[in-house]
Amino acid sequence: MAQYKYSHYLSNFPDPRFDPAHPPGTAAPQTGIYKCQGCGGEVVSTAGDPLPPASHHQHSLAQGGIAWRLIVATV
Ligand SMILES: [Zn+2]
Repeated sequence: MAQYKYSHYLSNFPDPRFDPAHPPGTAAPQTGIYKCQGCGGEVVSTAGDPLPPASHHQHSLAQGGIAWRLIVATV
């Protein structure tokens, strides 16, 4: 899980761009931290660059495929 020390650097922003889970290898729609919905792994991606590919890490069958959800966006 993403961690932080100073809460005043982050703000809750209920925006729909945090809702979709993006397939591996697709262009990141926003610069920020993305969490894999299968295993909870986190990566930093830049807007327009490809999100990590399906070969980025291994999942068990129970974890399903890799899907990246934006959890922290930069502004
Ligand atoms: Zn994963």
